[in-house]
Amino acid sequence: MGATGSIGTQTLDIISRFPERFRAEALSAATSAEKLFDAARRFHPLCCALQKETAIPEDLKGIEWFFGPDANERMLLAARPDDALCAVVGIAGLSSVLTALDVCERVLLANKEALVTGGRLVMDKSERLERELLPVDSEHSAIFQCLKARENNPVRRLILTCSGGAFRTWDKKAIYNAKASDALKHPTWRMGGKITTDCASLMNKGLEIIEASWLFGVPQDRIDVIIHPESIIHSMIEFSDGAYLAQMACPDMRGPISYALGHPQRVEYGGKELDLAKIGQFSFFRPDTERFPCLGYAREAISKGGAYPVILNGANEEAVSAFLGDRIPFGKIAETVRYALDTCPDVPVSCFSEVLEADRAARRAARRFLEEK
Ligand code: MG
Repeated sequence: MGATGSIGTQTLDIISRFPERFRAEALSAATSAEKLFDAARRFHPLCCALQKETAIPEDLKGIEWFFGPDANERMLLAARPDDALCAVVGIAGLSSVLTALDVCERVLLANKEALVTGGRLVMDKSERLERELLPVDSEHSAIFQCLKARENNPVRRLILTCSGGAFRTWDKKAIYNAKASDALKHPTWRMGGKITTDCASLMNKGLEIIEASWLFGVPQDRIDVIIHPESIIHSMIEFSDGAYLAQMACPDMRGPISYALGHPQRVEYGGKELDLAKIGQFSFFRPDTERFPCLGYAREAISKGGAYPVILNGANEEAVSAFLGDRIPFGKIAETVRYALDTCPDVPVSCFSEVLEADRAARRAARRFLEEK
């Protein structure tokens, strides 16, 4: 799901290298119909889905097509694959993840907003149905790999590394006035517009704290963030004796994708070898929540709990979309999130429809703020 985006196309690259091992049974995209048609011609899936009803080329009519806002869910129910990889952007992926947990043995999760907004629902369902939930986010994949070596020892802290994003060295005023074209220059990873903007505001790292908290059952105050511009250490764990375990590799999303696809076996996906002597040195910095307030807002949202992570995420999605459309400067993203956290009430989020309602309220607040100020 999300087959035409950055994660989706890299996943298909790995699948194409191992045709005897992996097969794409179903492929979906939100709106990139032409790209999905190309992928369907290469991979011959049984089913495909698009959010918008689209005319299907003659040569692809043997595939079962699904359209509409619930197209992913109906596609999963028809194809019933062993594994589902969800790389949908935003809370839009939550219902796909929940359906994938019903249908598939393993769910490979690249859609962090599903855990940010519906963490309780996703974790409860995966436990109840005994589904394997495998992280595709590089930091969470790194922690998952490190935790395998813990041998029942308690873990003191998780340490998420962070590239620092496009504005790591910028001053506060320049960051405030930055435009979409500035934010989209990510120093080390090539990704879609939403996540690259979230990297620049450090909201991505905030969302990842929430994601890690759900995935690994660790409270936010035991999840640290450290800026590591080289993006070679993908994350670390610390034991009670002060020892660290880190996972390192070249920054290539095919690493975490192939690890989840092949788990528990590693897959030689054809990435670059890590040349530590060439890199020379690693650097580390404490994140600056003064210049990047979204990181602090995310911590606040997860520690308050309830609807606050949903409110944080909804306001952020709405503001990032306005930012990417060049309607607001970068600094307005954090202000919008702050406004929504301050004005939206904490409401129950114990089922899917309540989560969606809290999300809609946050988006209304965000739009109100952006129209008025
Ligand atoms: Mg990540």
